[in-house]
Amino acid sequence: MTSRGKARREFIKNISIASSLVSLPQLLHVPLQQGAADKKKIVIVGGHPDDPECGCGGTIPKLIEAGHTVSLLYFTNGDEGIEGKTHEKAAAIRKKECLEACKVLGTKPIFINQVDGESVAGNPQMEDFEKKLFAENPDVVFAHWPIDSHKDHQLSSVLTIQAWMETPVPFTLYYYEVCTGNQSFLFHPTDYVDITSSHALKLRALACHKSQHIITDDGKYTADMYSCGHPSIEDFRGRELGVARAEAFIRMTGKGFGKLIL
Ligand SMILES: [Zn+2]
Repeated sequence: MTSRGKARREFIKNISIASSLVSLPQLLHVPLQQGAADKKKIVIVGGHPDDPECGCGGTIPKLIEAGHTVSLLYFTNGDEGIEGKTHEKAAAIRKKECLEACKVLGTKPIFINQVDGESVAGNPQMEDFEKKLFAENPDVVFAHWPIDSHKDHQLSSVLTIQAWMETPVPFTLYYYEVCTGNQSFLFHPTDYVDITSSHALKLRALACHKSQHIITDDGKYTADMYSCGHPSIEDFRGRELGVARAEAFIRMTGKGFGKLIL
């Protein structure tokens, strides 16, 4: 076969794969039939405990309400996240908080057990990550936007991208933002979810991460990670969408489906 013929065949194959993949609007806005085939498996990858909740905590209840199952895959255990505690003690506390947050949201926790701040993306780590991710047989995966100031966010995202490229069963990949302007950079959303009605549940899930609470100026407690600009991000994304609060995402265009700009 000529190289042009091979490329054409590959293009047609990719089109059929892409058209069979599910998107956020389909997940949230198309009424589900009563069959199990309409229920999708969704995995949200976070660098630390509370990252999936910060970036997707308002979207998760809407996905669950639409009949899908959602798992939160925590890349590290936040081992460095409690001052004065050893890695082991901090990890044990924060994993317990993850379980509580997952209970509030109705999600399943998955732990990769890498060490906070010391994450590695070598071949053994990639194999372990893919094994745990593929075991979920996901239809849709959400990962950190890779242009991020935190290495754990970067590496968990890069491993997800690698898995997306290698998976024997294609899944849709979305990116989410955390602490934009401080951690996520150059984030230009393609998809939005109105989280006005689910925001209270997001805050309840974040409240489970008690070890991360800080006292605000008015004497109240808030989640440290969430206070890193997330209320403003939700407000701004809401303005872009025309609602009170929103979470925003970038859909990965896949395997030859990038836009031609020149
Ligand atoms: Zn994080």
